[in-house]
Parts: sequence; C-alpha cells; structure tokens
Amino acid sequence: MIDVIVVGGGPTGMMLAGELRLHGVDVLVLEKDAEPAGYVRSLGLHVRSIEVMDQRGLLERFLSHGKKYPVGGFFAAITTPPPERLDTAHGYVLGIPQPVTDRLLAERAAELGAEIRRGCEVTGLSQDEDGVTVEPAAGAGTRLRSRYVVGCDGGRSTVRRLLGVGFPGEPSRVETLLGEMEVTEAPEKVAAVVAEVRKTQLRFGVGPFGDDGVHRVVVPAEGVAEDRTVPPTLEEFKRRLRAVAGTDFGVHSPRWLSRFGDATRLAERYRSGRVLLAGDAAHVHPPTGGQGLNLGIQDAFNLGWKLAAEVGGWAPEGLLDSYHCERHPVAADVLDNTRAQMELMSTEPGARAVRRLVSQLAGFDEVNRYLIEKVTALGVRYDFGEGHELLGRRMRDIGLKRGRLYELLHGGRGLLLDGTGRLSAAGWEDRVDHVVDGSEELDVPAVLLRPDGHVVWAGEDQRELPGPLRRWFGAPAG
Ligand SMILES: Cc1cc2nc3c(=O)[nH]c(=O)nc-3n(C[C@H](O)[C@H](O)[C@H](O)COP(=O)(O)OP(=O)(O)OC[C@H]3O[C@@H](n4cnc5c(N)ncnc54)[C@H](O)[C@@H]3O)c2cc1C
Repeated sequence: MIDVIVVGGGPTGMMLAGELRLHGVDVLVLEKDAEPAGYVRSLGLHVRSIEVMDQRGLLERFLSHGKKYPVGGFFAAITTPPPERLDTAHGYVLGIPQPVTDRLLAERAAELGAEIRRGCEVTGLSQDEDGVTVEPAAGAGTRLRSRYVVGCDGGRSTVRRLLGVGFPGEPSRVETLLGEMEVTEAPEKVAAVVAEVRKTQLRFGVGPFGDDGVHRVVVPAEGVAEDRTVPPTLEEFKRRLRAVAGTDFGVHSPRWLSRFGDATRLAERYRSGRVLLAGDAAHVHPPTGGQGLNLGIQDAFNLGWKLAAEVGGWAPEGLLDSYHCERHPVAADVLDNTRAQMELMSTEPGARAVRRLVSQLAGFDEVNRYLIEKVTALGVRYDFGEGHELLGRRMRDIGLKRGRLYELLHGGRGLLLDGTGRLSAAGWEDRVDHVVDGSEELDVPAVLLRPDGHVVWAGEDQRELPGPLRRWFGAPAG
C-alpha cells in the first residue's frame, strides 16, 4: 500500500509531495493533465513563501528565475511604500510566473523521490479503517490503495466533491478576461490609455510581459459565463477593450485566453478521516493581492510534516487535526481580505470614497504594515495558547555564530535553538535537532521550533520543555 496519494500536481500538490519525501514517506502524485499548464495565473511569491523556500534550501533556485519588487502596494492596489521595520530578512515580492514556480516545485518533488503520474485523472474515492481506494478515470490506470489521500486538485476539486465536504460562500458576481497577446498600438499610447482607465477601473491592465512584445491583458468581462472552462475568444477581448478603454489596441496573435471569477468559498473541513484537502481545493477567492498560490504552498508546508509524523507512527494525538485548526482560520482571513479588496476596487461612488479613506489610512506606517503583513502572511499566528509574544508565530531568519537559522531547517526537523547551552531535548533526538548558539540576534534565551519554523516554546527553563516537546513531537524514544 502507498503511504500517501496526492491528487493534483499543481503548486500545492508538488510542495506537499516534496515535504513528505523529506521524511521518507512514499508519495504518488496523480495529475490529470498530460502536460503542465502554459498559461500564467500567479505572478509571484510573497514574503512568507519566500521564507518557506529559504527554510528548505530552495531559495537560490527561485531567485535565479525571478525578479525582486518592493513589498508595498499589494492591498487592493493601493500605492504605498514598503513599511518600516517589516519583520523579515526577505522584505520583497519575488516576481516569478506560475509555470516556473510549478516546474521548480515539481522538480524538487521528483528529485526527492516522489512518483509523479501525469495524464491520470481521479474519478472515484472510498475509504475504510485501513486506507483509501482511489479510482483513476477509464484508461488512466488501475485502482490504487493508500494510507492517506490529499486532494490538491484545485477549486473544482473532485476529491472534495467525492468526500461530500461543503464549500459554502459566494458565487462569482463579476468575471475578468485575462490573456497574453500582441498589440499593434504604440507603447506610449498603450501606457497613456491604461493610466487613464485605471483612474476608475482597477480590474484593467495592458502591459508588456517578457521581452518578446507579448502583452498581458486584463479587462472586465460583460457578465458571468455559464461555463468558465470555455475560454473567451479574441473577438470578446476586442469588444470588451473597446467598451472599457475606447480602443482594442490592435490586439492579435493570442498565446492563450482565459477568464476568472470572484467566487469566494471555504471548505467546511480540511479533513475527513484519511482524506485531507489543501490549496484551492480547500479555498477559492479572487486573485486580488496575489495570495492563492502562496496560501496553498503554506497549507502544504503546515500539513507535510504532520502527515509524515502520522505515517511514521510518532504523531502525538491531535497533530493531524491541528492542520484544520491552524489553516482554516488563516484561509478565512484571506477570503475576508480579498472580499474587502474587491469592494475597495469597485467603481461605485461609495466604494471609491471608502477607498480614498483607506488610502489615507494606509499612509500611516502601522496601518500599512498591518495590511502588508496580512497579504504576505507574515502576520499569521497560530493559536498555541497564552505565552511569549513569539508563540505561534514563525521566526524571522537570523544570523547565527555558525551560519543562519533557516539553514538549520532544511531537513524539515524540529529545532531547539539554545542560546543558554544548558538545555536538552534528550529522547527526541530522532525528531528534534539541538543547536547551541549564543547569537546576539537571538533575542530570547532559547526557542523550540516546529519543522515549519513556528515557535512552540520560548524560554530558558528545562522543566518547561517536555510539555511542548511531547505536544508537537510525541513521546520520547526509549
Ligand atoms: C488570474 C489569476 C491570477 C492569480 N494570481 C495569483 C498571484 O499573483 N499569486 C498567488 O498566490 N495566486 C494567484 N492566483 C491563484 C493561484 O493560481 C492558485 O491559487 C493556485 O494555482 C492554486 O494551486 P493548487 O495547486 O492548489 O491548485 P491548481 O493550481 O488549480 O492545481 C490543481 C491541479 O490538480 C489537477 N486536477 C484537477 N482535478 C484532478 C483530478 N480529478 N485528478 C487529478 N488531477 C486533477 C489540475 O489539473 C491541476 O494541475 C491567481 C489565480 C488566477 C485565476
């Protein structure tokens, strides 16, 4: 029996497969498409995802394919400078097209030994006490058995539907056309028209994408399509461009054309027995602020080590359920901030007045930082109870006497970073590294970090340590 079948080989599924392989878990990824998607949805990684890549030794790969941009201006496209004192060593947005992110994560999963089966659509699923039976579509292989299944199969998730997990929220009210194509209009004219239209319509943009004359075009659709899987036509783009901007810029030779809506929905639960949901399969929302892919990667980062602990037989009680408890509220908050952003981008006079007010408020550094911490996920704090201000938060990278903190997390293990030299994690050495380092940048005596870098204890008293060690890493060996 396979340990874990991941359904869906998008960024969430591939991130998860890599995380599971770090811990030696057998992973099979089933992806319905024979080839990776060529169209570009996400344009980049936010601070927390950049940190996640750094915590796994993947950052160099991403940096070499991306471009750094200032972190300001991501909340409802309200222009703000980067806030002062953002608590990270990576205070930038990494511009990198989604197909590149998807490829880098797939390469990492494969390098670590995940089996990836493309052209294999999952159509059936049933579970019993011992495992899950997965049915591929006719002609896509034989029935499979695994101990666990994770549905990372996107917003229209088959896994979620087969589980009967509710997906409450709002349907799309507005739809936007998005595509890549060439334009015949002169660049200065395009830029001038775009600047004028964007004074009132923020769901609009025409701009060069890459160096080969191709432009990314975003324009509001006329209504909401009955079937969003049917791509729009070039004629539809031209019509909408003329209606919204007064010109179609002479668009021609499209590379790809698509449409997206603003449906906002959250799965009622992320776990049903041996089957879990992650990424867009668990939550959908408009792309304002560029958060969906980031959220999915961070779901996978939260779930990977917990599921590995369960498969490895050392998970303490409740560890796997903590995935829902921690990640469901984070997604609920992202859904809310995208709802707010959509209102702030509306062309209605009342909404525009609120936008002016929020823009003024964002001029205050505290407010600016609060909004940016939301969009970048730096503000995420899991509820681990009362205690030190770091408890539940991820820790920023700091310089150590030997190397950097994030380098110590590459293996995906727990870490007791001990500035006192008096502490011990004896009994948990197979799951938790103990590193003594009196770095001046460590502003607490010692911290215990989970494999995802979140702080589960801060202090200096050895008598306090066994509690959090047991809670997150199970019983001591021996
Ligand atoms: C226009 C647009 C712009 C966006 N911009 C950003 C951005 O700037 N930043 C950001 O963070 N996010 C952005 N997003 C959101 C981002 O694209 C998604 O959140 C992200 O792709 C979700 O990743 P996922 O792996 O969970 O799902 P998906 O990327 O949807 O991957 C799911 C995979 O599962 C496969 N699959 C589906 N059903 C089955 C099945 N039954 N069996 C097997 N395989 C199956 C699919 O083929 C697919 O490969 C944007 C989205 C849109 C539409």
